[in-house]
Amino acid sequence: MTTDRAQVVVIGGGATGTGILRDLALRGISGILVEQGDLAHGTSSRFHGLLHSGARYAVKDKEAARECIEENMILRKIAPNCVEETGGLFVQLKEDDPSYTDKWISSCAQAGIPTEEVEIGELRRTYPVLSPDIVRAFRVPDCAVDGFRVLWSNVNSARQYGGQVLTYHKLIGIKQSNGKICGVEVANQLTGEHKYIECQLVINAAGAWAGEVAAMAGLEVNVIKDKGTLVAYNHRLTNQVVNRLRPPGDGDIFVPHGTITILGTTSITVDEPSCSKPGQQEVLDLIKIGSEMIPELQNFRMIRAFAGVRPLYQAGNGAVGRAVTRNFALLDHQQQDGLNGLVSIVGGKFTTFRLMAEKTVDMAAQKLGVDAPSRTAEEPLTNPISKEILERGKKVFGVAGAKKAADRLGDNFVKVLEEAEKEPHKCKVFCECEAVSLAEIDFVARDGDSFTLGDIRRKTRLGMGTCQGTFCSYRTLGALSSYDWTRNHKEFLTKFLQKRWKGIRPVMWGQQMREAQLSTAIYCTLFGMERMK
Ligand SMILES: Cc1cc2nc3c(=O)[nH]c(=O)nc-3n(C[C@H](O)[C@H](O)[C@H](O)COP(=O)(O)OP(=O)(O)OC[C@H]3O[C@@H](n4cnc5c(N)ncnc54)[C@H](O)[C@@H]3O)c2cc1C
Repeated sequence: MTTDRAQVVVIGGGATGTGILRDLALRGISGILVEQGDLAHGTSSRFHGLLHSGARYAVKDKEAARECIEENMILRKIAPNCVEETGGLFVQLKEDDPSYTDKWISSCAQAGIPTEEVEIGELRRTYPVLSPDIVRAFRVPDCAVDGFRVLWSNVNSARQYGGQVLTYHKLIGIKQSNGKICGVEVANQLTGEHKYIECQLVINAAGAWAGEVAAMAGLEVNVIKDKGTLVAYNHRLTNQVVNRLRPPGDGDIFVPHGTITILGTTSITVDEPSCSKPGQQEVLDLIKIGSEMIPELQNFRMIRAFAGVRPLYQAGNGAVGRAVTRNFALLDHQQQDGLNGLVSIVGGKFTTFRLMAEKTVDMAAQKLGVDAPSRTAEEPLTNPISKEILERGKKVFGVAGAKKAADRLGDNFVKVLEEAEKEPHKCKVFCECEAVSLAEIDFVARDGDSFTLGDIRRKTRLGMGTCQGTFCSYRTLGALSSYDWTRNHKEFLTKFLQKRWKGIRPVMWGQQMREAQLSTAIYCTLFGMERMK
């Protein structure tokens, strides 16, 4: 067994864990993050992708609403490549309670969230797709946010200051001596090798798994696992986020993301943190409720459904589902349970991950005797791409392709551009839906953190567009066939396609059925995948 050493070990490569690693690194504290899968293996890739303005929480939870609007403004500033400033709308239908609207307007004002009423005629002209039964509508500063990009940007930034990341490493033991944490044991999920990491502090940022991690130290952390299913439509139904103006419920938010729209979500308590299988009935429920805001919803093509598990912290008030607070809890297990060197951060939202990380590292720094303040609200996640580099990129990848690649790659865009300029055949687009070039795929495949086609997907968005991998998967397999880690071609491709099918199955009717048949014909009939060696 090999041994490593760091002041802090962070468990969990979601928004919270990667945000913590970055904050530690910027304060000069050495940290190693361990993640059992690839980054965003958990909830941070299985969400709506809404950077909340806070308006959704304004009536019920002013503190959460205020945190959201503040963090929304910070993330726009430090990570413009991860945020699309779409703006959002809250719409009240005929049947919705008008007195709630009045309460909502004053609550938003109290929480510092700007709202502006939209004239109904203007709304109808801009979005004829929306219901004619909308009686009032308001603009709010909601945005769309790319979870994968935020997580990798956090990690890339942390690495510049010495932060380390071990993906595909699962925590299997927490070691303590005389009431104090002294290290953790992790198992490499790809090779089976074990590693011991000596440390002074462990930060449990394992999201829906936080209870399981705490149990390894013999402690209890009560996390309610609240599954939510979402569906993705094959184009932007509106250019702004659209929320239903009523108390938060199922199926009442549409978020435009790049070329698609995400509708969600449901809320069901589950036992397993890994329960991310979307249910067909949940999809049908979502369509029914969503149709109240977009009556033609049935006629648009759904490309997939997916589900995530909200880690909701419950200190013991017995609430469930939407009644449980969306606030976060920072638990000092020394104070709470007498175990020195373990801290848990649970609950919250993607939108507030940076704040959660800041508060957690404030506590960690105090324990380690470090007095450096947090700098994550000021220092950008990636450096802005110069105009000159972007212009060069447009000549190589096209206007839209260059902008998309620059947003995805951040500081690494220039390296990919130089490679494509040197070897022009690498300008070829392999994923048309998301405009991903061979140069980008090749760069990501060689970055040391990619072990599966899914890892490449999460960094490039390959296979996430409207064809759901039908065309780009086999092209990529061919291009990467010389890499050692892609040697078992059948397994490499099958795993990727099966993951795509997991989301396609619950929405397989109408237009999507035709697309699925095309995909089956290509892989099974044309390529004879079952017989592939
Ligand atoms: C359906 C749905 C919609 C949502 N929509 C929004 C939204 O629009 N906007 C918003 O702001 N928030 C939204 N949220 C909430 C938000 O997604 C979560 O609060 C946030 O992503 C949680 O991040 P996290 O880092 O705490 O957890 P996670 O992202 O789950 O990260 C925890 C990580 O820990 C890892 N881990 C667990 N156990 C171990 C172990 N033993 N060893 C190593 N690693 C381990 C897991 O693999 C996982 O990757 C939504 C949530 C859901 C479920």
